[in-house]
Amino acid sequence: MSAQIIDGKALAARVLDKVSEAVEELKRKHGLTPGLAVVLVGDDPASRVYVRAKGRRTTEAGMKSLEYLMPADATEDELLARVRALNENPDVHGILVQLPLPGHIDTEKVINAIAPDKDVDGFHVINAGRLMTGQKALVPCTPRGCVLLARQARDDLTGLEAVIIGRSNIVGKPLGQLLLNENCTVTIAHSRTRDLPDVARRADILVAAVGRPRMVKADWIKPGATVIDVGINRIPAEEEGKTRLVGDVDFAGAAEVAGAITPVPGGVGPMTIAMLLRNAVEAACMQNSLPLPKALADI
Ligand code: NDP
Repeated sequence: MSAQIIDGKALAARVLDKVSEAVEELKRKHGLTPGLAVVLVGDDPASRVYVRAKGRRTTEAGMKSLEYLMPADATEDELLARVRALNENPDVHGILVQLPLPGHIDTEKVINAIAPDKDVDGFHVINAGRLMTGQKALVPCTPRGCVLLARQARDDLTGLEAVIIGRSNIVGKPLGQLLLNENCTVTIAHSRTRDLPDVARRADILVAAVGRPRMVKADWIKPGATVIDVGINRIPAEEEGKTRLVGDVDFAGAAEVAGAITPVPGGVGPMTIAMLLRNAVEAACMQNSLPLPKALADI
């Protein structure tokens, strides 16, 4: 193996330290404790694990954590009422509605009911528009984490060819904008892209955000490229009845060719929660007309 392994777990721990430092400063100087509310509808076990982890990390960072568990048959109106109450609550600076929502609820309607300045996931159409037009925005957590991970391997991303495979609203598209802001030349590929391996081979920074286990092979990668693997795929493990997580990149092969690569697990995943807490601090600052604490200046 020749590639540098970009350790997302270690980087996330450093980001969380900075978040704690920033929270401490807001408390000390301004008597402000950022509060993050997470709303979960239904009892999907994976979502419950995420929500619990988010709550724990929020408290560890010195912030206030509020959790709202609603039954799977909660109506859209009930959820919208909960969101509106949180919009009005001055102790809540960030609101996250855990996705996916049950099928009878219109996800877009719920996301767009969140006050844009409390939309710590950065999914609200106003935040998407602000990001696109270069205005101050709350930016989706996973793409923000991807940029920090890429910067671990390359100090300056200016002029690099970036290819992102996947064009979702939560990963591919916002990441394209962030990498454009870093002065990369950006290509966003998708299921209809012709000659995908050829397109991928152009990349100095290759991001896979597809949801297909080990789709990106070693011979899709330009030697020395930085590879960021967003995919989280559960596949059967060798041991009977067990499963394990793999990314969208064939890690073993890719690590022979890439200059740097993120592992799965331990790459992009841990960064997402860290960036969520960072966004909660930013939201609290925005709502109180305060500058972002220095600890978070480069994050
Ligand atoms: P979506 O399903 O919303 O989007 C997948 C994208 O991949 C689409 O744009 C789709 O193209 C494209 N795609 C699908 N098949 C192919 C193919 N054969 N060739 C090229 N492109 C293809 O997924 P998300 O963006 O929500 O998530 C992507 C992955 O990232 C998932 O594994 C998810 O679990 C993971 N993820 C991880 C996070 C983390 O914290 N680490 C956070 C969020 C997501 P088209 O638009 O043409 O259909």
